Order: sequence, then C-alpha cells, then structure tokens
Amino acid sequence: MAGYTPMMQQYLSVKADAQDALLFFRLGDFYEMFFEDAVTAARELEITLTGREAGQEERIPMCGVPYHSAEGYIARLVDKGYKVAICEQVEDPATAKGVVRREIVRIVTPGTVMETKSLSEGSNNFIVAAAEHDGRFGLAACDLTTGELYATSFPVSKETILNELNVYRPSEAVGDASALRRLKEEAARSGQELLGTERDQPGDSDTLLRTQFPGVDWTRPEGIRKLAIARLVAYLGETQKRSLGHLQSVKFYDPKQYMALDAFTRRNLELTETVRDRSRKGSLLWLLDKTRTAMGTRLLKRWIDQPLLDQASIEERLDAVEALHGSWMEREELREELKEVYDLERLVGRIAYGTANARDLNALKASLQRVPAIRAVCERLDSAPLAKLAGGLDDCADLAEAIGAAIADEPPVSVREGGLIRTGYDAKLDELHVASKNGKTWIAELERQEREATGIKSLKIGFNKVFGYYLEVTKANLSMLPEGRYERKQTLANAERFVTPELKEKETLILEAEDRMVDLEYSLFAELRDRIAAQIPRLQKLAEQIASLDVLQSFAEVGSEKRYTRPRFESGYDLTVKEGRHPVVEAVSEGVTFIHNDTSLTKDDGSILLITGPNMAGKSTYMRQVAMISIMAQIGCFVPAKLAQLPLIDRIFTRIGAADDLVGGQSTFMVEMKDIQVMTEQATDRSLIIIDELGRGTSTDEGMAIAQAVIEYVHDVIGCKALVSTHFHELARLEESLRSLRNGCMAVKENADGVTFLRKLVAGAADSSYGIYCAQLAGLPQSIVSRAYNLLESAAASEITDEPRMRAPAPAIVRESGPAIVTEEASPESASESEAGASPELDGTAAGAPTAPDSGIVQLSIFEEPPKHERTKKASPAADKLADKLRKLDIMRLSPLQALEWLNDARNQLIEIGDSQG
Ligand code: ADP
Repeated sequence: MAGYTPMMQQYLSVKADAQDALLFFRLGDFYEMFFEDAVTAARELEITLTGREAGQEERIPMCGVPYHSAEGYIARLVDKGYKVAICEQVEDPATAKGVVRREIVRIVTPGTVMETKSLSEGSNNFIVAAAEHDGRFGLAACDLTTGELYATSFPVSKETILNELNVYRPSEAVGDASALRRLKEEAARSGQELLGTERDQPGDSDTLLRTQFPGVDWTRPEGIRKLAIARLVAYLGETQKRSLGHLQSVKFYDPKQYMALDAFTRRNLELTETVRDRSRKGSLLWLLDKTRTAMGTRLLKRWIDQPLLDQASIEERLDAVEALHGSWMEREELREELKEVYDLERLVGRIAYGTANARDLNALKASLQRVPAIRAVCERLDSAPLAKLAGGLDDCADLAEAIGAAIADEPPVSVREGGLIRTGYDAKLDELHVASKNGKTWIAELERQEREATGIKSLKIGFNKVFGYYLEVTKANLSMLPEGRYERKQTLANAERFVTPELKEKETLILEAEDRMVDLEYSLFAELRDRIAAQIPRLQKLAEQIASLDVLQSFAEVGSEKRYTRPRFESGYDLTVKEGRHPVVEAVSEGVTFIHNDTSLTKDDGSILLITGPNMAGKSTYMRQVAMISIMAQIGCFVPAKLAQLPLIDRIFTRIGAADDLVGGQSTFMVEMKDIQVMTEQATDRSLIIIDELGRGTSTDEGMAIAQAVIEYVHDVIGCKALVSTHFHELARLEESLRSLRNGCMAVKENADGVTFLRKLVAGAADSSYGIYCAQLAGLPQSIVSRAYNLLESAAASEITDEPRMRAPAPAIVRESGPAIVTEEASPESASESEAGASPELDGTAAGAPTAPDSGIVQLSIFEEPPKHERTKKASPAADKLADKLRKLDIMRLSPLQALEWLNDARNQLIEIGDSQG
C-alpha cells in the first residue's frame, strides 16, 4: 500500500474485506470504483472509464455512478451475476478528522437482492446453501424478500439434487467445495449458471441457529440440515450486515413427502414453463393461475412443483376447492377482497429490513382491513377446511389500527417533505406544527405591516432554499424603501430581495420547528415500524394462509371455468379416467374441440398401454394428459375429465423424444438410455411411466430390441402403470406374451380426400405410421412421394414372398367404406372439430388391411422392414437410402428453409439414381 494516498489506503483495506464483490466506494455524491472493479463496471454498465491520481506514478482506473441513481446500476450488475459491496461514509465529513471513516454496509448478491424492482412479483428469488457429509446432502433454501426458509436432506444423489434445484431455481449457492461442485454441475445440466461462494464451518453454528431462530427446536433436525442452514444464515449475516427479523421459522421436509418429478419430467410436461421458449405462458402454471395476490402466485408454483403424497392433505385441499367451486357468489366476493391484498410477505420483508416506507405501512393496513371480510366469506361456505382456515385467520387489527392512527392517508414520498404523521398522534409533533403554522401566520402579518409602513403595495415575502425568507421589492419601488433596517441579499433583473432582523429571527424558529418536525415524524414512524416488526410471525402466518386461500380459489375458478371435476382417490392400484383431456392443449387450441379419451390402467385389465400410430395422431398429448391429471389431482386441483379414479402416484417418469439435452452436449439416444437407467433404478409399482417413441435414435433392429426389453422389464420387474408409444408396430405382439400389456392406437380416418386424425384412442394396434402421407402433407414433390410409396410397396411385396413375419393385430383404421363402418358424418377437415361427445365410438376391429387413398397406393407400415436381401433385389441401394432418410425425417421439426434444402437434395439424388439406372 506504500505510496498510496491515505484515502486510497483506506479503499484498499475495505476492498480486501469485500473479496470477490465489486466495491462501490462512497465519495461525496458518488459511488466510485477503482482498479479492476472500475474496468469491469465500466464495461458492464457502459459508463466512462477514467483515471485518478492515487499517490503513485501511474493513474489508476476509475469510474463512478451518482449515489441517488445507484440502485439501478447495482441491480444491473447483480442481474449479470456480480456481487456488489456498498461502502458508505459512516461519519459526518464536516466533523471528521482526517479521512472520513467508511464501512461496507451491505453486499448485494444475486440471491440476496431486496429491491423488489429487479425481481418479478409472482416468482421467488432463492439462495441455497448446501452441506455434504458421509453420503448425506443437506439443503437450505431461502427467499430473503419473503422470509421463506426451507430445509431438507437426503442421501447424496445427482437426481435428487437436480430435482430440488428445479423446485428452487436458485440464483446463488453457498456450500463446502464438494456440495457446491455438485450444485453447480446439476444446475449446469438444466442450463443454469449458478453463482457459488465457498463457505465451510460457520463458527459456532448451534449458537448461530439458536439466536436466529429462537422458536425452533434444534434438538430434532439432522446435523446436515442444521449445517446447511447455519451456512446460509452465516452468509446472509456476512452480506446483509443487519438483523434478519423476518427469518424466524424453518420449514423442514423430506423429498419423499412429495411426488418425485425429475427435471426432464417437469420440463416435458411443461409444468411451470414451456419447452420451446421457457415461457410461463402455455405451461400448467399459467393455466391454473387465477390467483389474485403475488403470494398466491408464488405458492401456486410451489404446489405444482411439489404434488402431495398424503391423501388426507390432498382431500383437505380438494374439499376447500369443492366448496369454492360450487359457490360462484362467494368465490367472486373472495376474489374481490383478495385483489386488494398486497404482497404481505414482501412487505414484511421490508419491515424487518427497515426499508419499508409509510406507503408500505398503509398498504399493510389496507390489506389487513380485508381480512375480516375474507374470514366472513370462508365462514359462509360450508366447508370444514375453509372454516378451520377462517378460524385461524388473525386480522392483526391492532396493527392496522396503529398504522391508521399514526400514518397520514397520503404520506409524502420523501420524509423530508413532512406530513407523514397524522395530527393528534403525538402532542409534541402537534406543538411543532402549531409553531410552524403560527410562524407562517406571523409572516403573512409581517407582509401586511411592511406594505403599510413602506406604502409599497407589491412588496411580498417569499422563501427559497438558499436565502430562506426574504422581502421582495421591485426596482421601480426601491426609492420608497427607508434606509437602515433592510439588508440586501439578492438582486434580480427587476427586483431586490432583503432581509430584516425580525424576519431572520422568525425564520430560525420556523425552520427549526420544521426540522424538528421532520425528525420527530421519522422517529415516530420508525418506532411504529419496529412495533410491527415485533409482530412479524403473526403477519407471516397470515400471509401464508391468505396465499393458500388464494391458490384454492384459483383452482376453483379455473375448475369451474373449464368444467373440471373432483378426482377420487382409491387406495388400490387402479387408475381410471373417463373422458380425460389435456388441460393446456385444450385451453390453447381455440376453436378446435379437444377430443376426450378414456384411460384404464388396472391390475386386472392391463397396466401398460402400448400405443402405436402415426405422427400427429395425438399419442403424446394423450400420454401427457394422464400424467397431468395425476399431478393436478395430487396438488389438490380438479381435473379435466368426466370422472377420475386415481391411485396416489409416487413418481412420474417421462421420457419424451423431443427433449434433447443439447445443453449437456449428449446425444438424444444416450440421454434416453440414461433416463431409462434412472427409471429402472427408481420407479416403484406406484409410479407412472410415460415413454414416447421408445427406441428411436438407433438402428431399427436395435431400437426395437431395446424397446421390447424395456417394456418387459417394466412389466415383469417394476410392475407400475405405463404408457408407451412406439413406431415399431411389431411390438404390438407383446400383448400376447405380457399379461398386463394392452395395445392401443389413435384412430385415423381415410377417405378419398386423405387421412384425418380422429385423436381417439381405440384398442388394437395401428399398422401404419402414415409417414409418407405426412411427407405429402408437408408438400414434398409428388415424385418423391410416389417413389416412396413404390419403395414401400416393393418392400411389402418382398415380405409376402418371404417367411411371414409377426403381424400386428387388426389395425384401427376407420374407412368411409370399410367393413365395420362408422357413421361418420363430418368431412375430414371437420372431423377433429366435431363435438367431442359426438365422436364415434370406435373399436379395434374396425377395418381389415388398409388400403391407400384413392391414388391406388397401398399403405403398409414402413417400419416393417423386409429382409435385407429381398429389399436390395427390388430397389437400388441409393433409392433405399433415400427412402430410409425420408422415413426418419422428422418433418415437424424442420424449418421451411431446411425442408426446401432437403427437397432439393432429394431431387438431385433421385435424378442421379434415374441416370444411373438408365
Ligand atoms: P403424436 O404424439 O401422435 O405425434 P401429438 O400428441 O403431438 O401427436 O398431437 C399432435 C397435435 O394434435 C397436437 O399438437 C394437438 O394440437 C393435436 N391434438 C392432440 N390430441 C388432441 C385431441 N385429443 N383433441 C384435439 N387435438 C389434439
């Protein structure tokens, strides 16, 4: 430090404490940054980088931001993943001897931002702390803005860590090296970058915990949980440097209390965000969100993230939803009341933090005043859980009254303006008010007297911040002013301003009274805030209850709008759904009627459904809908079905082809296999497995072999309910060997105009994927389409001459002129739009061997490959290859440009093939 100026030396010692945070060093009206920090901040904030003499030969880099607009800059840096240490002057520069004392007053980090401006209302901002020891993993998660703190522990496992991270989506993590590494790795797997800080033993963690949470019994929680919480609290103390009065309770849980949903499943089912653009819109959360408060919105997400496994708790939620569902009037009333309730959790956070202002207190009062009406509505509804909830609602009337008595209805934005506290609240304050008011009357009187004495009618008394009170006389009237008493203060273009000794004296009195008033108002306000801060647990409990109520009414509102029904839980194994729908697909397909489908996964009548059929037929929508219904039911929501009799599902496992792990850099097939590995390890007979397009991504023979082996394993070993879709129609024969497997397929209607997807699940297996038909729909040139059909035909022909292969059972294709004709009136275009209830009852025996649309082309499964030697006899290898590529082409995932390029390529290859065959 030698050679640096004293101030720079001070800077350097503070910077040493700030460690990895950018140091905002207060110098007068600016926060300045120096050295590397300045370079980084100038780059990130796009502000000018300058230099400064610091006592050494070279100038040092420097940049700065005005203190009054610092919040925005800090938020931007924190958003970009930096920590910002704020260093203030902690003594009055006017009286300081030497360099003003400066200290870091707070370190703002991504996980500890309190300024709600940079946070979205409806979502939490979590920081997690972790600890790992002896094969156990402890995790604590805290949202500092709301005061929520959760803690859990489990045997170290990548999957569980990833699943927990998915619930919290933390923006920051603290932990020992090993735990931190695991957190970062798992976060990276789901495409998140996690800012981590390494911290070990936080000193005496027992004392730390007992001091922060005096109400918690610390003898019970497992050591690893305690360590995680202690690390968190130590880190919060280190960065926030103030008491955290709103962190008073911890919610402990075991991951096993909730339905296990791995990261892929959450993502694939689009529970809280969509796969495509990670937006909320289009997710289940979006659909179910009719909440009226920010707390409710956040709690809804938590409920969706953690479906329950305890039937009694689920039924309690469902009872409340049912009561609200059935009473439109009460629900409306409740929704009106809730709309007026502010974000109590965050208000409480600001009160504890000492950053709440008078408007916040008024918002709190206004919210509390809604509670009696909310309670009354709940009591009117005939429902035990709502009555219980209402009975426990503490409207904190004493606090609302205290605020009402003290704070003005429209308090000023800045305390310095005065007028924060109501008249009549404090005698001393009222006295000062009178003094100041009298002073002003006295001044008005003085103005009158001076006008009279001087005879200057335009003489007036004014006030400005620089000169205080003054007498103003226009230049034209100056001669009328007597000499002596008037002291000139300021000259304007056409007037002069004066003061007199009496005016100065009165001014002092008035200004002093005003200053004292402001100070007194502030201290009265702070006193009130502290009084409320002492009642934080009551307010937090209330916030929690209101949030639950809000989610319950949201479920009821959506449920009644969308005609959902209450699910029934059976203690056994079987799952039966009548007329089930996919809630989100149904909600977003405007103008198109969603076709409902039944589901039966039962011990006696088949627990595995193997679905074959073409692309776009609705297979994956159907399979997801079953998972969605289970999840909705277990969070306590009504479900999109006419009837749902469900078991408690302990885990939903989905493997849906489209979710490539591009971030993790793994091939789709590898990811699929890894997922299946996890499934084999963790699924129980109470789980639900959904696999879409099993075995895709490797050669046909291998894919089919793996698919069959996996299905057999699920059937024989796991014994759980499963929905599996596949392109390998040959797998349909498994129905004969696996007792609990049933075939199903999505019905398709063929007629002269083409193929219509009926979106109806019927028994039996499909025998065509309609891949070529899809290619045709996509607009591929007729030459390619015809060639593909020819290849298919010759492949089929060669098969007939070959040893007969295992054929799928009769396909479920409904043809306009088939043998078992369905009375289908709708045109192909309108078939999918026909009223759901009116869609034909189909069964698997509808038709015999499929014939092609009028083109005279025979449609057979292109996935039934003929023996290789036969195939090569009939078609050229190049054409074969092209057909193979066409078969595998995932048209739905091509951009128009890619499709054109593909076409062009294909055409050139065809021309070449034509040329070479002469
Ligand atoms: P597959 O998995 O067979 O390729 P999808 O499930 O992706 O088919 O469905 C394709 C499209 O069909 C969906 O995007 C949806 O818009 C529509 N769809 C699916 N099921 C239904 C249904 N039951 N009713 C109405 N439209 C549906």
